[in-house]
Amino acid sequence: MKRTEVKEALQRTDFGNEINVKGWVRTKRGSKNVAFIALNDGSTINNLQIVVEMNPENDKILDRIHTGAALSVDGTLQESVGSKQNVELLANTIEILGEADPNEYPLQPKKHSLEFLREKAHLRFRTNTFSAIARIRHAMIFAVHKFFNERGFYNIHTPIITGSDAEGAGEMFQVTTLDLENVPKTEEGKVDYKQDFFGKPANLTVSGQLEGELAALALSKIYTFGPTFRAENSNTSRHLAEFWMIEPEMAFYDLDDNMDLAEEMLKYLIQYALDNCMDDLKFLSKRLQDEEKNKKAEERSMELIEKLRFVLENPFARVTYTEAIDILMRSKPNKKKRFQYVIEGWGADLQSEHERYLVEKHFKRPVILTDYPAGIKAFYMKQNEDGKTVRAMDVLFPQIGEIIGGSQREDNYDKLYSRIKALGIPEESMWWYLETRKFGSVPHSGFGLGFERMIQFVTGMGNIRDVIPFPRTPQNLEF
Ligand code: ATP
Ligand code: MN
Repeated sequence: MKRTEVKEALQRTDFGNEINVKGWVRTKRGSKNVAFIALNDGSTINNLQIVVEMNPENDKILDRIHTGAALSVDGTLQESVGSKQNVELLANTIEILGEADPNEYPLQPKKHSLEFLREKAHLRFRTNTFSAIARIRHAMIFAVHKFFNERGFYNIHTPIITGSDAEGAGEMFQVTTLDLENVPKTEEGKVDYKQDFFGKPANLTVSGQLEGELAALALSKIYTFGPTFRAENSNTSRHLAEFWMIEPEMAFYDLDDNMDLAEEMLKYLIQYALDNCMDDLKFLSKRLQDEEKNKKAEERSMELIEKLRFVLENPFARVTYTEAIDILMRSKPNKKKRFQYVIEGWGADLQSEHERYLVEKHFKRPVILTDYPAGIKAFYMKQNEDGKTVRAMDVLFPQIGEIIGGSQREDNYDKLYSRIKALGIPEESMWWYLETRKFGSVPHSGFGLGFERMIQFVTGMGNIRDVIPFPRTPQNLEF
């Protein structure tokens, strides 16, 4: 018999018909005359209840069925009275595809901590929480492509291995085929990169932006959606060494156009999740509420679905860095030195505690901060007339802090060149980037959305390690 997926089976109403389902046992419980198996195949968060009537043959097979086992069940669809769903399956034949020894299988039908499940990343897809996150993550990937496709953007694959070390966004991972036990040296005693694979040093990319700009200056609107790598040794709940970034880049867009696109995209993704992932969101919402049960009312976060709607319904606050510094200087936690990093004045880099204060306490909605001091931003951002600030924009979200970083790009050759010189970036590694400002340069803008931070926001998960299947963080490369 052809397999019916659980998601479809749960929607059927042709009771009395026989179907086949396959999946993994979540729970088994029994009474004297009948046993109930909750079967899940990942097509939905909901389980199909399999009803097994006791008879000598079924008894034998039931003894071998435990949480985690894989089954193929032929059965008759029937209306359910007892279970959460409207449909259940009265088993006719049960085949065990793969047993799971209850003395060894680590996932028991009880709540496991997220920390425990990180150590069992090979099996954690089989929990409600992680299968819900995986389905939402898929929906968000699809929605990203849909959003840009509907607006005439072209997806560009930018390189993962890069020869430029000037992307300016943190520490890079080096890529080499040299024998590290026996590194070839030049006469001056330096590493002889001529003998390395590319004949020069190579790294994993920290951003596809610079190459993305080259494409935008011909195709007008492009986006990348690829892996990026940062060897920053920060063990936070918002940083990974390997993460996915969405980077649109648009010719003829100024900073206002850029902000409009960022806000539209974030809202589109949230709307898509509400329209397509409601079962999973409801589960995650309940999970969060259970987790926060013991917190004081004022410390509890807004209910997940309410929070998503709230972001949809309110325009983001748009504020300059200078205004934000004023607000922070006057804020209670700054005056009482309750911030870990007290803001001393204009020019300070904002930490996530400051970003979250602005969003959660002051404006009470997402905030786009613009016009940062040049000194704390990358070389490629467009310089303002004031000679001090650049046309940067960071989008700040509740619980997350920075979710997007972007800017209008410097399109004036001389200004870009002097900035590169001033920062000591080797010109010979940037000649191709500079040439785009020599030939047909136009105003253009773009930004980067950290995909996992977006998934954190949509799922309400507190730790970024739980929204990517196999997180890469310092000292952690197991799976
Ligand atoms: P942060 O200050 O939070 O470390 P950043 O300023 O270094 O971030 P950008 O270089 O602006 O980040 O990168 C664009 C986006 O990529 C960020 O807004 C964020 O959403 C995401 N991002 C940056 N670094 C990481 C990381 N290590 N892990 C996951 N996402 C990240
Ligand atoms: Mn940033």
